[in-house]
Amino acid sequence: MKFKLDTQTHPPTLSLIGDIDESSDFTKAEVPKSGAIAIDLSEIKHVNSMGLRAWVEWITKLKHLSPIFYRRCSSSVINQINILDGFLPRGSIVESFFVPYHCEPCDNTFNYLAQRGRDFREVTLEQPELNAIPTSMTCPNCGKMAEADIIEGRYLKFLKRSR
Ligand SMILES: [Zn+2]
Repeated sequence: MKFKLDTQTHPPTLSLIGDIDESSDFTKAEVPKSGAIAIDLSEIKHVNSMGLRAWVEWITKLKHLSPIFYRRCSSSVINQINILDGFLPRGSIVESFFVPYHCEPCDNTFNYLAQRGRDFREVTLEQPELNAIPTSMTCPNCGKMAEADIIEGRYLKFLKRSR
């Protein structure tokens, strides 16, 4: 999918759509001068190394914005956050992200949006990380139980990273 930027002014939310690769141009993104910003990452499917470099360069320039909320992160984004520390710089917070589920009986796959505070929280000096993400959930297709299609130690690794 072609990379696209979409800005909403109220509240300041930037939606990134498509793949993050060598053609992704972040410089056109309109960001506020101060305060918080939310970046909706639900439509990011693929991220390659060239795109990764451009992303890190761009996001580290947004130091003046705090916090930066990473909203509705796709599983590709979560994978990148886990692999590359710089993908989620200090002062940024994962607000919500998608967890894929797979139903064995009917071979259905669906996503659950995990919310910070309710389903997860990252580790702090005061308390360990919270992981209340359901390991199984009723399949909306057949009504049987579907399992979370993740390897917790890998997918939720970023919650253990002290920020
Ligand atoms: Zn099912």
